[in-house]
Amino acid sequence: MTTGIVKDDRYLAHNLGAGHIEGPERLEVIHAVIERGLPPSCALIEPRPASREELEYIHAPEYVGLISRLAGRRYVELDQDTSMTAGSYEAARLAAGGTIRAADMIMDGEVRNAVALVRPPGHHAERGQALGFCIFNNIAVAAEHLIRRRGLRRILIADWDLHHGNGTQNAFYFRKDVLFFSTHRFPFYPGSGYWNEAGAEAGEGFTVNVPLTAGKGNEDYRFIYRTVLGPIAAAYRPEFILVSAGFDIFAGDPLGGMEVTSEGFGVLAAELLAMAGDYAHGRILFVLEGGYSPEGLAEGVLQVLAQLSGKAQLPDVAADASPQTRTEIAPVIDVHRKYWPL
Ligand SMILES: [Zn+2]
Repeated sequence: MTTGIVKDDRYLAHNLGAGHIEGPERLEVIHAVIERGLPPSCALIEPRPASREELEYIHAPEYVGLISRLAGRRYVELDQDTSMTAGSYEAARLAAGGTIRAADMIMDGEVRNAVALVRPPGHHAERGQALGFCIFNNIAVAAEHLIRRRGLRRILIADWDLHHGNGTQNAFYFRKDVLFFSTHRFPFYPGSGYWNEAGAEAGEGFTVNVPLTAGKGNEDYRFIYRTVLGPIAAAYRPEFILVSAGFDIFAGDPLGGMEVTSEGFGVLAAELLAMAGDYAHGRILFVLEGGYSPEGLAEGVLQVLAQLSGKAQLPDVAADASPQTRTEIAPVIDVHRKYWPL
């Protein structure tokens, strides 16, 4: 069984011009290391565009219509950080559709697990609004596809991007069939993701936010994933794990402030892979979100692929948080102790 990699040059056509930090060179550096030598037991997946119906699982029909009408325009600003150029609509449809295709191939046993190297990213995109470099919420569309078309009832979305995945949180805030778990820098862009945002109505307890100050490293992240997400996942027993993999927690990231090294991405992948093996028949899909350091992107993706394809040692990093980190996660545990065995 292989590890699938969604990789396609059409994602490079979403190009906002030199100087925009979310540029095609982000994928070019990852493509370059993969092309130098496809990691063993990996196979490429060709994306397909998401249909209007699929995008409307998450997005308002008026919004999907608006974006489709802007296709091919030279330059349109959607939000102060988010714009479209001629190739953007096709890239955005392929980003959501490529994520769906990878999820389907995992469900059908054609690949064991996968990484979707897509852009534009998705986790900030709201139901009717582009935000923070994101046009369509790729991971949310794929989660909804797994529920509506593949009959799954419990999906875990783990979001380790530096920024809070506000769009994903809002898509599933009132539901328990998708559990959203996010670690992110706080206070920080986009402003949401405080620990008291824990879901509501039927979804109460199924949104878990771990806001963190800057400076968290490999050992902190391993501790948080083990001691907070671990018991929650054991009780929830997800049937599929989707990961919003943002490489902007890398120590050298220009937007960052976190201290994760490339080995740290192997740690996070290994923790989630173990959960997928325990509860989800190994079904796990990593979807690219942010990450703006060429080294962090290229080395981070390689570390994730090495874990997924089973070709790497388990990273030797202790699950040992600093006293500061323990203080910061205490209110998260307090809020969620009434829902989960924490
Ligand atoms: Zn980010």
